[in-house]
Amino acid sequence: MDKIGGTVLVTGGSGYIAGYIIRALLDEGWTVNTTVRDLAREAQLRAQLGGSYATLRFFKADLMDDKGWRAAMDGCSHVCHVASPITVQAPRQEDELILPAREGALRALRFARAAGVERFVQTSSVAAIVYGHGKGIRRFTEADWTDTDGPGVHAYAKSKTLAERAAREWIAREGRGMEFVSINPSVVLGPVWGEDYSTSIELVRQLLAGAVPGCADLGFGVVDVRDVAALHVRALTEPGIDGERFIASGPFLKMIDIARILRQQLGQKARRVPLRHVPDWMVHALALVNPMVRQVTGELGNVRDTDAGHALSRLGWATRPVEQTITDCAQSLIETRVVAA
Ligand code: NAP
Repeated sequence: MDKIGGTVLVTGGSGYIAGYIIRALLDEGWTVNTTVRDLAREAQLRAQLGGSYATLRFFKADLMDDKGWRAAMDGCSHVCHVASPITVQAPRQEDELILPAREGALRALRFARAAGVERFVQTSSVAAIVYGHGKGIRRFTEADWTDTDGPGVHAYAKSKTLAERAAREWIAREGRGMEFVSINPSVVLGPVWGEDYSTSIELVRQLLAGAVPGCADLGFGVVDVRDVAALHVRALTEPGIDGERFIASGPFLKMIDIARILRQQLGQKARRVPLRHVPDWMVHALALVNPMVRQVTGELGNVRDTDAGHALSRLGWATRPVEQTITDCAQSLIETRVVAA
């Protein structure tokens, strides 16, 4: 395919979503620079991502350090800033997530502007949109923002909200014409390449492995990693979208809906997936001894639906059926032996 873009920097090339973005960009003929914290991973990542030494180049850079960023940005016309910490366990200190997210975004913006980048696309999250508004059932759009002072807002949501807000404020103050767009995905699922999968896959892994006693009354929007990557690629070059936010989400599913899809689509391979409900009181009891469960008790019963209508209508974005996303995710976990067949 002919080269349609210039050179683009994708930050955090070792990550799940970044990997799919890099693959999609290489397929479209872009030259891709990417940052990793550990260059020893280059060979393994090259095998996964494809591309040649001329079209995919690795640079060592950390979100918390200026070293390496100038070289990584050199010659880039576009940036996808994807790198940001995302963890299963709540951090001991909120700043473990907030500082790399916010300072890393500002660092990437500063070096991007200095390199003459035309457009900077930030991978934000619906976590920057839906939290801090109390309990209940609600549909959110790009006009909404997480209230970081609201009740029960966890460190990750704070990190994504503060990073996107800081980026937008910096652009307004110091952007000097560099364009900025954010993509705000819900929970990203889809095929994994191996054991180094994102935190978002953990729920499907635990259901498939029978590692949870049942399904709590918890839910979230689900989106396919391949569709999220396609939206990033689109947002890099679509004219006339400077400053916009795009929610990247498919349907809102409860944990029990995911369990049922796994059972229906995978038959015997999903034999360990529990189909019973876990009552709220039991989740609260489990939370006393399990910090991971403690993080989600505030979400019991909530429906935080996110409306991707803007991406669908403005960017002609399309999403594949959520059943395919979940099935492909589970199949890949089995094929890569993350979960026993
Ligand atoms: P991931 O696989 O864990 O990737 C995170 C990436 O960030 C890794 O490349 C990691 O590098 C890098 N990173 C973390 N801390 C860093 C630091 N201090 N310096 C440099 N790099 C650092 O997670 P992902 O799911 O692909 O997430 C990618 C982005 O999408 C994040 O911004 C996340 O907030 C956002 N997002 C994810 C979801 C989801 O459901 N997965 C939903 C909405 C938004 P190492 O490999 O060196 O750790």
